[in-house]
Amino acid sequence: MRLKKKPLFIIGCIGCILVVVGELISIKSASHSGSKTYFANSGKVFGTYYNIRYEADTDLEQAILARLQAFDASLSMFNDTSVISRINRNEDAVTDTLFERMFAEAVEVSELSHGAFDITVAPLVHAWGFGKGKQPTAPIDEVAKRREIDSLLSFTGYDKITLRDHRLIKQDPRTQLDASAIAKGYGCDVVADLLREQGCENFLVDIGGEVVAKGKNDKRQPWRIGIDKPTDDPTGMQQELQDVITTDSIAMATSGNYRQFYYDGGTRRSHTIDPHTGYPIQHRLLSATVTASSCMRADALATASMVLGDEQALQMIEAIADAECYFIIADGDSLNTITSSGWAF
Ligand code: ADP
Ligand code: MG
Repeated sequence: MRLKKKPLFIIGCIGCILVVVGELISIKSASHSGSKTYFANSGKVFGTYYNIRYEADTDLEQAILARLQAFDASLSMFNDTSVISRINRNEDAVTDTLFERMFAEAVEVSELSHGAFDITVAPLVHAWGFGKGKQPTAPIDEVAKRREIDSLLSFTGYDKITLRDHRLIKQDPRTQLDASAIAKGYGCDVVADLLREQGCENFLVDIGGEVVAKGKNDKRQPWRIGIDKPTDDPTGMQQELQDVITTDSIAMATSGNYRQFYYDGGTRRSHTIDPHTGYPIQHRLLSATVTASSCMRADALATASMVLGDEQALQMIEAIADAECYFIIADGDSLNTITSSGWAF
């Protein structure tokens, strides 16, 4: 498993405990603020890292791991036995509530974005060497690629699949799903719900850079969340920030093309695919940060924004009552930012 993005928060590891549960790897520590304890659990899940901090009476790590494992068993592309992996292999898979909620939100964001967001992009993502695909070792033959992509487009489209009686029905068995652009945000919501159920009022859940935060940190201050400067950095180790948000209540996701890309000759190929053309997007929007009523929705809307480009994406976000955005765009050699009218951070 590789880390896709750097952690937003680095936690001190003195006295940490490392736990490995199947595909999940978890590190935990605790700090005290007056009579209160802030716990920190972090590790790896579905191909990325997670970092969760919360104020509680007891360590909730086992409950958190159980939720993450249930989530992994439904939606992880990195788990061969997950519901989504079995659907992709056309096995008889019964969908669970996690899958069905993800599917409903995915369809809604597909409609809001006029198909810019689409969970049936998996074959296109692989064809361009991302996800389970292999990056090319020689320059891509444009004519052959166009032909390959056109044939994949014939069975790409969220309108070619439907959910009925807890089963996913495909018009074409070659259609495959990719929940990478929505699952991390959804995972944040699922863990945040658990923390709320347990009575936590102060917490931050970060899965692969998508965040749900509530209340205060262990310094009794609002949470501070960094937005990365979109500098080309496939290692994900650069720490430069474009901005810092201070908040006591947020569900926020960022999509960008500055970590997952390669050069094919002089052409940049990034991991965000326009489902209408089948090609990786190329435009001046470098990073899209979106807030919404859920992190799942913010995650999908951030990816949709990257596909649409800043002008159309801004129109989309302005029309969605619960969403706001912060876009970073390339302007010659410098970076500019654009925010929606309700962006209040
Ligand atoms: P990140 O993984 O960096 O958080 P995103 O949330 O934008 O970024 O997810 C990007 C991933 O989503 C890609 O690697 C690919 O697997 C998938 N994807 C690419 N294009 C689309 C699209 N148009 N709609 C839905 N998913 C997409
Ligand atoms: Mg996304």
